[in-house]
Amino acid sequence: MSPAPELKATLTLPQTAFPMKANLPQNEPLRLARWASLGLYERLRKAATGRPTYLLHDGPPYANGPIHLGHALNKGLKDFVVKSKTMAGFDAPYVPGYDCHGLPIEIKVDEQLGRKKLEMPAPAVLEACRAYAQKYIDLQTSQFERIGCLGRWDTPYKTMSRDYEARTLEAFYGFLEKGFVYRGLKPVYWCIHDRTALAEAEVEYEMHTSPSVYVRYRLTSEPGVISPALKGKQVSTIIWTTTPWTLPASMAVAFHPDFDYVALAVGDQIYIVAAELAASVAAACKFGLVSELARFKGSVLERATFQHPFLERSILGVLATYVTADTGTGAVHTAPSHGAEDFYTGLSYGLDQTCRVDASGRIQVDPEAWTLAAPPAFDGMKVWAANPVIVAMMEERGALLAVSDLEHSYPHCWRCHHPVIYRATEQWFISLDTPVKTAQNEGKTFRQQAIEEIDKVIWDPAWGKERITNMIATRPDWCISRQRIWGVPIAVFLCEGCQKPIMDPALNRKIVKLFEEHGVEAWHTTETATLLPANVACAHCGGKAFRKETDILDVWFDSGVSWYAVCESDPDLKTAYTNFQNENGTKCLYLEGGDQHRGWFHSSLLTSVALRGRAPYSHVVTAGFTLDEQGRAMSKSLGNVVDPLDIASHLGGEIVRLWVASIDFREDMAASDNLMQRCAEIYKKLRNTFRFLLGNLNGFDPKRDRIAESDLLPLDRYMLARTRELTENILGWYERFEFHRVYHAVNEFAIVDLSSFYLDVLKDRMYTFAPTSQERRSAQTVLWQITEALVRLVAPILSFTADEVWEYLPAMEGREASVHLAQFPAPAEIFSEDPAPLLKEWKQIFAVRDEVLRALEEDRQKKLIGKSLEARVQIVANSGLRDLLRRYDSSLKEMLNVSQVEVVSTYVESISPTMNRVGFVQDGQLNIVVGPATGHKCARCWNFMPVVFNYGIWQNVCTRCQEALREMKIAPPLAPMDESKESR
Ligand SMILES: [Zn+2]
Ligand SMILES: [Zn+2]
Ligand SMILES: [Zn+2]
Repeated sequence: MSPAPELKATLTLPQTAFPMKANLPQNEPLRLARWASLGLYERLRKAATGRPTYLLHDGPPYANGPIHLGHALNKGLKDFVVKSKTMAGFDAPYVPGYDCHGLPIEIKVDEQLGRKKLEMPAPAVLEACRAYAQKYIDLQTSQFERIGCLGRWDTPYKTMSRDYEARTLEAFYGFLEKGFVYRGLKPVYWCIHDRTALAEAEVEYEMHTSPSVYVRYRLTSEPGVISPALKGKQVSTIIWTTTPWTLPASMAVAFHPDFDYVALAVGDQIYIVAAELAASVAAACKFGLVSELARFKGSVLERATFQHPFLERSILGVLATYVTADTGTGAVHTAPSHGAEDFYTGLSYGLDQTCRVDASGRIQVDPEAWTLAAPPAFDGMKVWAANPVIVAMMEERGALLAVSDLEHSYPHCWRCHHPVIYRATEQWFISLDTPVKTAQNEGKTFRQQAIEEIDKVIWDPAWGKERITNMIATRPDWCISRQRIWGVPIAVFLCEGCQKPIMDPALNRKIVKLFEEHGVEAWHTTETATLLPANVACAHCGGKAFRKETDILDVWFDSGVSWYAVCESDPDLKTAYTNFQNENGTKCLYLEGGDQHRGWFHSSLLTSVALRGRAPYSHVVTAGFTLDEQGRAMSKSLGNVVDPLDIASHLGGEIVRLWVASIDFREDMAASDNLMQRCAEIYKKLRNTFRFLLGNLNGFDPKRDRIAESDLLPLDRYMLARTRELTENILGWYERFEFHRVYHAVNEFAIVDLSSFYLDVLKDRMYTFAPTSQERRSAQTVLWQITEALVRLVAPILSFTADEVWEYLPAMEGREASVHLAQFPAPAEIFSEDPAPLLKEWKQIFAVRDEVLRALEEDRQKKLIGKSLEARVQIVANSGLRDLLRRYDSSLKEMLNVSQVEVVSTYVESISPTMNRVGFVQDGQLNIVVGPATGHKCARCWNFMPVVFNYGIWQNVCTRCQEALREMKIAPPLAPMDESKESR
């Protein structure tokens, strides 16, 4: 056979301008610019008019730094949701938000302003805070856009906008007027570094070393009252604490009424401790030999009196059921100004609750409790410095029984990471146990109603429900005041006489109006006299002097009312949210990290239940945290930080998106440069698949060339059925936010179904058949439908690439300007029948194929055949399978990629020099015989054909190829007329 290299040039190879190399870092910004000039988001909004609504309400990230991988994950997932809902036919607006007020920004601005701040008027400080927040809003916006997140980025909602501030205040007045708000002294978490109260959600537990001390409190009341055995004896109790600095505030010792207590004789001393803890106390205090003198219930210790270990103060014996027998002594030192439980015990026993630790954590000793000329050494010291001083003083006085260091989990400030203290201060609270007065809910408390509303919400993953229920069930009242400036003022006037607030709804409306026009600055710049009605008098004491409250609202209150300030008010969200509230079928989704059960989900629930009597969402989905491959948190010191912007500039924003889709976000997600690189490899494969699909669509005009579904070749029909199945699955996964399943299914389809199978076996048909032949058009029709479906199905995730592919698809009348304006494919439009029966049949055919491929591979190993086109296959099958295979006879040769296939009932002729093989498929035995193909190899298509003959000077060209060449109007070249060669 003479070689004819020019014949190769007559093959119809794939052709496309779609570049192999993505150049994502360079090209993505260009595509973003294109979307901006298209007005893509606005176009989407317009196109969605009248469709059913779906609302994902954005939880606002805090605007104080560049985005990190957790932000990219959060916004990436939201982008998948919004885009998939939009393509599924919903009107799904997305208005991103930013949380702007609060301590972190105020602290940064403090640092920038330094001493200057002290001379600056409040509005100037607020201006600086606004500018700081705006700087990071702009930065984060550009970064979220860079990774392809689509939304109303030019006008996000900001908790610092005038309107939002006014709505926040309005929501606070709503609470106030409904009777949920009270002002009271209460121990709250307090950061002495930042000098502010902290919410529960602003406290993080970290390890901390505290002095663990056992301290003697001498009994001063009659011991015989406790037990006759103690009559006339010198008796003490022992308390255990890890916060010696709270001892100056010690007012009582609490005992459990039902526990057994024992009086232990240790030398000439007698100590009362809980029976269960006696052994551990004796060990800790190194008592040596002890004997039990008496045993009695804790209840007998109520109203016994003790001497404070170093102050002139009588200490009361009190009863409390929170006393445990796990640690300590069973006798609990009680400082009402420094502990929540202590505070309530103090209330019921009328103990002094005055807090003598100031905002910066300095102790001021009660002068009445100190009779010596000079105050004690710890007076004026910060609590941490006072600890060793107090311990030393107790040791000197013989009150210290034991001291050691204890490393334990201790609350720390989320912002500055200093340990926090509990400190009683005047604060504003929202009471969780206020009865809700509505027609449907008489008698129920706010807490109970909130828990009922949790039950109506779908929590995904489901454990979120229990988590938030427990949090609401056990949480203390919500402390909503902060002693700072950067936030929404608690705009209330307090009576100078009795400290009670003025309750006047008309006045409240007036102040809201003021905020709408001038922002929170107005509270600082407007005189009290100009705001208050003339001659206003205190409703409680008749007082006429009032002062402005200077506290601001907890930032969790700010973001917690976003459903009110944004969803109910923003023209772009109002319709969807109203539909949701009216239960008109619209879902309202909150999607954030799993830590928001105590944060935004929590505060949003409380505000909405109080003001609207219902949860603000129907679905709450939570994501895990981003960790490194070893499961460690990312930190600069570990050097394991993956910066999404860095990935975007090196590999592409698309790779960040693909990573977000690659793992089940409900779990903690591993990320590393290595994993990103792996995503980039997978991206390359997906891109190549698209390129191959597009290349094979060259010359295909769907309008002109599309083959009717009923006329397609069987293999092509099968692929359509498979595509329909994939589409149905993917649409379901999008609906359930199972993006990782979409990712895996698309990968599998691209690699297994397309690259390794369909696109491979089609090569013969696509390259060698006449370009306009029915067979080739059949394949192109299906390739086109697959591409059209796949490009839409991946668009929510591979937003940049899908839009790029979109531009290379065969031109169609009415094609949208961007894939993002298109809708998901309808499964029935891909393939009209139920795909299941057909797929079931093909499953059997694929099982046969697996056996054949194995047999071919064996012969190739034995060098009996070369390429599989040099082979001939006999399939000996029983009747059921034989009928099936014969039905798909025309496709078998192609899908096995051999030159001849016969499906026979019995072994016909010995075609193989080796043994035939036995395989098994679903319904029986199968014999496969492989031998060398018969006939002649076509020089163009390399198939072995019964006849090949000359086409001009081209020798050995099969009939099929000759037809193709004629159709392409390719004439063979003339024989060279080289005389010298001829004569040789
Ligand atoms: Zn702090
Ligand atoms: Zn008053
Ligand atoms: Zn041929």
